[in-house]
Amino acid sequence: MRLYERGVCPLIIEGSDAVGGRVQTDCVDGFLLDRGFQVYLSAYPEAGKLLDLEALDLCRFRPGALVFRDEKFHRLMDVFRCPQHALSTAAQPIGSLKDKLLVGKLRLAAKRLTEKHIHEQDDRTTEVYLRDYGFSEKMIDVFFRAFYGGIFLERDLRTSSRIFQFTFKMFAEGFATLPAKGMQAIPNQLAERLPDDAIRLGSPVRTVDRRTVTLESGESIEADFVVMATDGETARLLVPSLTQKEVSWRSVIGMYFGASHSPLSEPIIALNGNNEGLMNNVCVLSDVSPNYAPDGKALISVSVLGDKQGDDLVDRVRKELVRWFGVPANDWQHLRSYTIRKALPEQGPTLRASEGVHQTHDGIHFCGDYLSTASIEGAIRSGLSCAVALLEAS
Ligand SMILES: Cc1cc2nc3c(=O)[nH]c(=O)nc-3n(C[C@H](O)[C@H](O)[C@H](O)COP(=O)(O)OP(=O)(O)OC[C@H]3O[C@@H](n4cnc5c(N)ncnc54)[C@H](O)[C@@H]3O)c2cc1C
Repeated sequence: MRLYERGVCPLIIEGSDAVGGRVQTDCVDGFLLDRGFQVYLSAYPEAGKLLDLEALDLCRFRPGALVFRDEKFHRLMDVFRCPQHALSTAAQPIGSLKDKLLVGKLRLAAKRLTEKHIHEQDDRTTEVYLRDYGFSEKMIDVFFRAFYGGIFLERDLRTSSRIFQFTFKMFAEGFATLPAKGMQAIPNQLAERLPDDAIRLGSPVRTVDRRTVTLESGESIEADFVVMATDGETARLLVPSLTQKEVSWRSVIGMYFGASHSPLSEPIIALNGNNEGLMNNVCVLSDVSPNYAPDGKALISVSVLGDKQGDDLVDRVRKELVRWFGVPANDWQHLRSYTIRKALPEQGPTLRASEGVHQTHDGIHFCGDYLSTASIEGAIRSGLSCAVALLEAS
């Protein structure tokens, strides 16, 4: 899009039949099902400049969480935004009072931290970072593993502490949101700014070199320059000489249920604060944006981390839902489950620090979340950085 605005005529060759890559939404019986639960953080700086956030009509989650532990929910709220919950949040048996004060300290520090500062700090795993910061094992186990498990798609907290700090900053500066009409509204908005003939769908690429793209169909397309905006694994596959490390993936199963009414009746995330069970996080998406379910219905999203197998998975998840929300969960209609094996690239503490968020190799340009942070912001940032480099070079 940036290139198009500057007079370059891009041709986007997309292998699948829709734009969006990992950000897609299906409409099933009037429910909007994002392919895996994801949120847009309203404070994302670069994505926020590129997207028309008003047109996306972002609907906010409440800043906090309900942590399921000892057979009941415990409400932990962002007390800076919900001061009326300060006393009750402090009193919840999820971590000590010191832990709650440390969350406040971390939040104030995160707002002051610039990204430059974040990248200058030692990179550790998030788990080590939280321990070094002084959080108790209980707070890490009961809250952070579940909350950041839902974001990083892993509960070990082995993700880079820089990504943790950046994400924490985003939560401190903005809100977790959903576009009113589903996550796919984000890539659709970008695609709509390009002329129709700039995007060719259903055209998987077989080989690339610096000026030629050859499709699976055998057709060859010449270009002044070629940008590979794929995931890291595909980039390596199509350009074997790329020095990019082998990509390992984090997986998740996004399971959706339809119900006659919301079991939560508020736009908030519910977390698994036990170190057992399949479900990591649950929320009622139609409480966040009513468009996610037809009138008189509620849409419940469940995230199961990893790529757990088994024909009885839905039944096992339903048993947990009954434990969390009571017997009405037996009547919820299972709408669909998405097993997303390649959801996020593994991003541990060896994260590229100063190498920039795009890459050029053998005259081919590369961008994507694997070169930045695995997020919508990271993908956009990488793409924009690549566009700037191309414009400077041309
Ligand atoms: C379940 C899940 C939850 C997530 N949660 C969040 C979240 O809450 N917040 C957040 O910010 N981010 C989240 N993310 C991450 C975010 O969606 C990704 O980081 C981002 O979409 C990656 O964008 P990308 O353009 O780098 O890669 P992709 O979206 O993977 O795009 C690559 C494109 O290349 C195409 N392609 C691949 N091979 C070929 C080929 N041979 N020929 C032609 N085309 C090809 C693909 O079809 C695809 O369209 C989540 C992702 C998933 C899957």
